[in-house]
Amino acid sequence: MQEIKDASDEPITWLRNLIKEFIVDWRQSQGANDYWRPCLVGVASAKDPMLEKLKRVVDPKHAMPNEILEGAKSIIVFFLPFKRWLAEQNDRCGVPAAQSWAESYITTNLLIGAINEHLQACLKDKGHEAAVTPATHNFDEVKLVSRWSHKHLAYVAGLGTFGHNHLLITSSGCCGRLGSLVTSMPLPATARPDIEWCLQKAGHGCLACVSKCKYGALHKTRFNRQACYRQCLKNDAHYSHLQLVDVCGKCACEVPCSYQIPKVPQASDRT
Ligand code: SF4
Ligand code: SF4
Repeated sequence: MQEIKDASDEPITWLRNLIKEFIVDWRQSQGANDYWRPCLVGVASAKDPMLEKLKRVVDPKHAMPNEILEGAKSIIVFFLPFKRWLAEQNDRCGVPAAQSWAESYITTNLLIGAINEHLQACLKDKGHEAAVTPATHNFDEVKLVSRWSHKHLAYVAGLGTFGHNHLLITSSGCCGRLGSLVTSMPLPATARPDIEWCLQKAGHGCLACVSKCKYGALHKTRFNRQACYRQCLKNDAHYSHLQLVDVCGKCACEVPCSYQIPKVPQASDRT
């Protein structure tokens, strides 16, 4: 039986510290802006039965850990939560995404790649192999589904639960970006939350994210993935002087789950 331990376990702390220290050095060497709050790390066993379900839930072609790395034992997933000012700017700037939001996307993707390489080297030092996957654009461009969904892997690795906005709500909210890698190092799996963190899904009512989407994509009862991606491409065209920035994120900004597990409304809040 798979061993489930608490996220404060030693390997998680080791990985979190590796990432934290690396980000400080990387920012200095790259002269990069400081966009991020402290990172979160979760681990899933490469044999977790839930992984097989991704072929049904995400896409029949969703990769399994052994296809990424022969002899895979664990999947490490990390979340880089954005600082609040970044989400506030994206929320305030009207129809297009904020330029800072678009720029942070580019920088964060570079950082994720660099973190992956760093972790790969650290794991190799300990005698283990690791294989990395790109932070983004590893998806089917017709169906708009990922063949290695960091978001779903983050769920399996116990980092959070899905929100009505189709993002993962972590203990640091849903504003941020995910990265992952597969390793031959056996690591204890992180326990998954046993309740829904999204207020709407938990039956408390919310839909604040729906009110933020002015682009016909996110509704009370459905999500139009194509409409969402159309808006992301409009933002890319808006910032044509930047690299590919097919982002929007309005439904993640300044809502109850942006920066934390949303607080369940109390009866006294309504008086
Ligand atoms: S804004 Fe509310 S309904 Fe939307 S994902 Fe967050 S908690 Fe759920
Ligand atoms: S990312 Fe933008 S277009 Fe897509 S659902 Fe959220 S607010 Fe709507």
